[in-house]
Amino acid sequence: MEDCFVCWGFPIFVNMFRSLLLITSLACCQLVHAQWSLNTTPTYPELIEYYQKIDREHKEIELYAMGESDYGLPIYVCIINGAEDSLKTFQKARRETTVLINNAIHAGEPDGVNASLIWIDNWIKEGKKMNGLPVIAIIPAYNVGGMMNRNAFSRANQNGPEEYGFRGNAQNLDLNRDFIKMDSENAKTFAKIFHSLDPDVFVDTHVSNGADYQYTLTYISSTKERMAPALMKLTYQELLPALTVQLKKKKWDLFPYVDLVNETPKDGIQAFNDLPRYAMGYAALFDALSFTVETHMLKPFSQRVAATHDFLCELIQWTISNKNVIEKARNESHEYWQRQTKYAFNYELTEKKDSLLFKGYEAEFPQSEVTGLPRLKYNLNRPYQRFIPFFSQHAAKDSIDIPKYFMVGGQCKSIIERLKLNNIQFTVITNDTLLKVENDQVSSFESYKQPYEGHFYHNELTSSNDISLKEFKAGDIIIPTNQKNQRFILSTLIPQAEDSYFRWNFFDSYLQQKEHFSSYVFEEKAAEILRNEPNLKEKFEAMKIQNPNFKSSAREQLEFIYKNSVYFEKSFHQLPVFRSVE
Ligand SMILES: [Zn+2]
Repeated sequence: MEDCFVCWGFPIFVNMFRSLLLITSLACCQLVHAQWSLNTTPTYPELIEYYQKIDREHKEIELYAMGESDYGLPIYVCIINGAEDSLKTFQKARRETTVLINNAIHAGEPDGVNASLIWIDNWIKEGKKMNGLPVIAIIPAYNVGGMMNRNAFSRANQNGPEEYGFRGNAQNLDLNRDFIKMDSENAKTFAKIFHSLDPDVFVDTHVSNGADYQYTLTYISSTKERMAPALMKLTYQELLPALTVQLKKKKWDLFPYVDLVNETPKDGIQAFNDLPRYAMGYAALFDALSFTVETHMLKPFSQRVAATHDFLCELIQWTISNKNVIEKARNESHEYWQRQTKYAFNYELTEKKDSLLFKGYEAEFPQSEVTGLPRLKYNLNRPYQRFIPFFSQHAAKDSIDIPKYFMVGGQCKSIIERLKLNNIQFTVITNDTLLKVENDQVSSFESYKQPYEGHFYHNELTSSNDISLKEFKAGDIIIPTNQKNQRFILSTLIPQAEDSYFRWNFFDSYLQQKEHFSSYVFEEKAAEILRNEPNLKEKFEAMKIQNPNFKSSAREQLEFIYKNSVYFEKSFHQLPVFRSVE
């Protein structure tokens, strides 16, 4: 999911040798689909043709075209164990327990594509057992444009398959950063799929980059501190221990995603911060039990497919046995959020660490043939098991009192569209209305210097709060926070939150001054203002004493008076999102 920057350039012959070794030693842990061989994955047309075929042949399997992708071809969802028609199927999914599996968001990482096909084929072969089966929804391949941009090279360090898709979509967006800003049609279609199903369990399938180690199967689970207690306990005290035991029986060590603190694992790993921009972070906003599977890129494709398949299998099996527990924990979580009076955000890793037994390979630093400098090389002949630090705790830097209502200007059409796509209930004001509200005035902000996913993301923000009576016009909207998808509202409309619409540039037009003054005209007015406002004059004189640059700049001095006068535009740096005050 996240790029790590270590260990690129593993010599190919070592890789091949190890593949052979692993194929021999782990033959029991490979899975091959009948139609796609040991090291191949379907193209998008082949994949959809296959799903269409099984849809035709089995009444329990339905394939739905759910909406557009940026490429132009549709995004599909395959539903197993639905109902007699699409309306009833989606009603059933929302009412009963549902597992949603998202594949090929990074189309170069197709393990889940093959694993899902194998799971379905096995289910058919085993007589389509329905006893307790939840609704299973599978997105065959989400990044359609990436799938169509097929190649054999863009995953330079990955051990198969022979050909695969590209990470970027048709707009060259990383779709796994797009769930809040929704620049892609894919993300809008995903929101439709997600809310039509309201999945209880969600899995996003990936292949890792980064360090070398012994594990094939790693996972990311939701950031504990951002979860409601009921779901946190269920995930960390029941589900993960159960999965670990069951997968061990299939010879897989289930291990957290190896997100390195430094160059090699010996200095420890850190828990991934699953912000709402990511698929799993987005799903977690709606209290889905949410996972990312990351298989290790240096393990052979068929082995990675087997690991992904077994993870999905065991997760489905656990879901079958724990339907009531899951539904209860989700309901408790929804209720928990409704009881909260504060919303915490800007989570950062703390210094606190646990210790984890890690199965790695010794890192060595021989001289590089290319650069003549020391280079990192993992010695596969020196496997080890050793405890390493695990930084697994996050803490919120900021919090805010949850208001009863947010108000957003009716002109913010792209935000209103995104609220609708996420089933957010709101009222449109029909008559101009005066309301007492709190509003953020941006004091300063900083942005990325290079575009990130099509945006100059604002990574720093300081602001002041202003409480005033504000006249709202017909067409502005009022959003109550007392609703099920509350956390989508809070994460996007609190400007300081990590993935807010402020940070993703939706309010940039409010950050520019529109009117200015000519100094020679404003001179007389400035003098008059100072005569009439002794407090301002006092501040002005003090500034001149304290700041020599200010004292020597006529323009700066006039600017200071202008900005503190009625002539300065009130809308400057004032965001069109407001919170109710009581
Ligand atoms: Zn990925």
